[in-house]
Order: sequence, then C-alpha cells, then structure tokens
Amino acid sequence: MNKRPNVIVVGGGVIGCWTAWHLLQRGCDVTLVERDTIGSGASSGNCGYICPSHVHPLCGPGAVINGLRTMAKFGGALSIPPRWDPTLWRWLWQFAKHCNANDFHQASLARHAILQSSRQQYSQFAALHAANIQWQEKGLLLVYRSDRDFQAYEASVDELRREFEIQVDQYDAKQICQLEPTVRDDLAGGWHFPGDAHLSPVKLLQQLLSEIKNAGGVIRQHTPIIGLRFDGRQLSSIQTDGGESLAADAFVFTTGAESDTLGRQLGINLPIVPGKGYSVTIGNAEGMPTTPMIFEDDHVAVTPLGESFRIGSTMQLTGFSRSLPPHRIELLKRSARRHLRLPLPVGPETQWTGWRPMMADGVPCIDRSPRAANAYIAAGNGMIGMATAPATGKLVAELALSITPHIDPHPYRARRFNNTDKS
Ligand SMILES: Cc1cc2nc3c(=O)[nH]c(=O)nc-3n(C[C@H](O)[C@H](O)[C@H](O)COP(=O)(O)OP(=O)(O)OC[C@H]3O[C@@H](n4cnc5c(N)ncnc54)[C@H](O)[C@@H]3O)c2cc1C
Repeated sequence: MNKRPNVIVVGGGVIGCWTAWHLLQRGCDVTLVERDTIGSGASSGNCGYICPSHVHPLCGPGAVINGLRTMAKFGGALSIPPRWDPTLWRWLWQFAKHCNANDFHQASLARHAILQSSRQQYSQFAALHAANIQWQEKGLLLVYRSDRDFQAYEASVDELRREFEIQVDQYDAKQICQLEPTVRDDLAGGWHFPGDAHLSPVKLLQQLLSEIKNAGGVIRQHTPIIGLRFDGRQLSSIQTDGGESLAADAFVFTTGAESDTLGRQLGINLPIVPGKGYSVTIGNAEGMPTTPMIFEDDHVAVTPLGESFRIGSTMQLTGFSRSLPPHRIELLKRSARRHLRLPLPVGPETQWTGWRPMMADGVPCIDRSPRAANAYIAAGNGMIGMATAPATGKLVAELALSITPHIDPHPYRARRFNNTDKS
C-alpha cells in the first residue's frame, strides 16, 4: 500500500481504542466504529488493574473441581445457571479440555508475553499522562482470611518467581496492616505483587480518545455493524444498521464478548462467552484503602480511584444479560465490610455490569481472518483485557500492516481450536 492505509476498527472498548492508537502511530487513516458509546462494553466499570502478575489462566489442573466448589457456595463469585445453550456447552467442554498441566503452562507463557509487553507500554504512556489516567504503582495485594488458602498459594508463588521472574512478597497479618492500615487485623496473610499497577479505566479511554482525535482518527459512535460484504478473498465493506456501507483497505474487529457473531462470518469460530461481572463505585473514598486488593476468599477486588472507591467481582456465565440484581452489589459490599476496619463511606454510587470476553483457554485471539486477507480480529482478553490491551492493539496493528510482530503471534492464532490444525 503506497497511500496511507485506511483501516476501520469495529468495537470501541479498550482493545479497539489501543488498536486505533497504534494504527495511527503507524501512519494509517483510522475510523473507530462503536455500536453504542466508547467504553460501553466491559471497558469502563472494571477494576483497572494493570497486572502482569495474572499470568495463570482460570483453566488449569483442578479448576473444574474448584469451580464446582465456588458455585456451590451461596452467592459465590462463579455461577453458571444450567440451561440449554450449545455455545456455552461447547465452551465448557473446551475449558475442561484445557485443564491440564501442559495447556496451563502454554497459556501462562502466552499471557506472560502479552502482559509484559503491555506493562512496558503502560509505563511509557504513564510517563506522559500519569495524572490524566490516575496511574498508580502501588502493586496488588492478595488478601486471605483462610490460612489454608494463603499457604496453598505458595506453590503458585514459587512458580511465578521461578518461571516468570515475577516479584512476590509475603505479608503476615501485622505486615498487611502496616502496608494497608484500613484492613482488619484478623486476616491470615497476603501476597503482594509490587510490579502491578492500576488506573482509572474511564480516564484511560478518555486519554486514548483525545489522542486518537488529535492524530486525525474518526470516531463513530451509535453505529452498529450488522453485515459484511466480501469481494473474493477481500472484505470490501461493512454495513451499518442504518444501511450505510463503509469501505476500507483493512478492518480490525475488536467486538469483545460479542465477537462470535461477526467472527463466524469471517470464518473464525471461537469458543468465547460473556463472563458477566459487576462493580459498584462509591464517590467517597474516606477511610478506604489506597492499595488495590483482592479478597481471595470471596474473589472480590477493590480499587482506589482518587476520590472514589470501586468494588468489583463475579463471573456469571449467564449469556448476554445486562440485568443488575441488587443482591449482587450487596455481596460485593459485604465482602468489603468483612475485610475493612471502617464502614463503607457514604456517597453517590454507580452500579455497573459488563461482559468479560472469555476464551475457553484463557488466551486472547489476535489473528487474520481465514476468509478475508484484509480482516483481523483481536478479542477474548477475558479477565485481563485492560492489562493486555496495549500489546494486543500493537500486535494486531503489526499483523494488519505486515510489520514484523513485536511478540510471537503464534499462541494467539484463531485456528488453535481447530483439531485438524496443530500448526
Ligand atoms: C467486574 C470486572 C472487573 C474487571 N477488572 C479488570 C481488571 O482489573 N484488569 C483487567 O485487565 N481487566 C479487567 N476486566 C476485564 C476487562 O474489562 C475486559 O477484558 C476488557 O474491557 C475487554 O475489552 P474489549 O475491548 O475486548 O471489549 P469491550 O470493552 O466489551 O468492547 C467491545 C465493544 O464492541 C462493541 N460492539 C460489539 N459488537 C459490535 C458491532 N456489531 N458493531 C459495533 N460495535 C460493536 C461493543 O458495544 C463494545 O463497546 C474486568 C471485567 C469485569 C467485568
């Protein structure tokens, strides 16, 4: 391509925004097309952890039994209401198939590469915009009430140190209170990852949007894409629900949990389902922690966001439901109360729900469409979409522009679930 390549990115979540940003950096004309508003999917109300510590996928040896145990608890963080849903059953089957030591290790390597690259990119970005995106380098503290679970995590810690050179510091109950005086003193202990960081997801998106616009990118919100038109081995245009046809040299689809619909038309049949989660943000952080923490017994995460305080969690495989049951928010708050010294502050509350794009093997899909040589997908970043977005966007931009990829793209290929393709 001699002229400036013209690329359309479909899906305005964190992956789409970073993709558009990288394409603009490489001299493309970019249009970012979003069905609703930027960040209206999973990318605004999440916990904002930039967590290279999250190397391990959910699927691993023993994960099925552990998952069943969590589901058995009333109000447990994981729930899968039984129903006839072939997509979900296929996903569960693929998930179970990956619960072995070898796949766990391979997925961990793939996640580590993309987490590390993203962490470096965030450091560079934060060097310019730390205040704007509320960037904080306070690490991440895993907190345990159960002594057994606290001790049991040591095996994972050993592996994270040995295999991935991740720094992890052990804290007893007293040391936790020294690091974070807002927590109760009757906890079993904790593990601190000093290399992790956090930010405000909404402010990050605002910063990216402002840079995309300044670099000449076009943002089209309230524009659902409902169809694709092919010309031989090329995707020639995409159709909006208003009947408009948008043409480009290349297309990147970053439609998050909903990537199956357009993905199938692109010849990509992914085991991806929405992992529904919730958060509540209280607009008053008085007496609340300043260190991000995960209360491991309940799988509930808390994030200090300047003058606000966010509590988030839950993984429900309930399909594409946007309901926000009050008892789910109450369970989040109950967990926070069980761990914190002071009552939750009184302030305006924002309740939120979002769909994590969950791939069965815990690894995102970043690849070219087998049906159209100029169409690409970047989706399925699951529970680490914020933490992996810069490198996901960079890699898919490199693939689309035939630039040597900065990380090995092989682990993220779409065809890895196809039994006939072991390449
Ligand atoms: C409670 C909770 C806490 C989380 N905490 C963290 C965390 O601390 N750290 C972390 O790394 N990750 C976290 N995550 C995960 C993270 O939020 C997601 O991985 C990430 O936001 C996914 O980004 P995305 O761009 O792929 O998808 P989305 O943000 O969902 O964006 C996809 C966009 O595509 C649009 N779209 C879909 N179909 C079409 C179409 N046909 N036409 C046009 N547009 C379309 C949607 O409207 C949507 O805006 C959390 C998630 C939840 C639910």
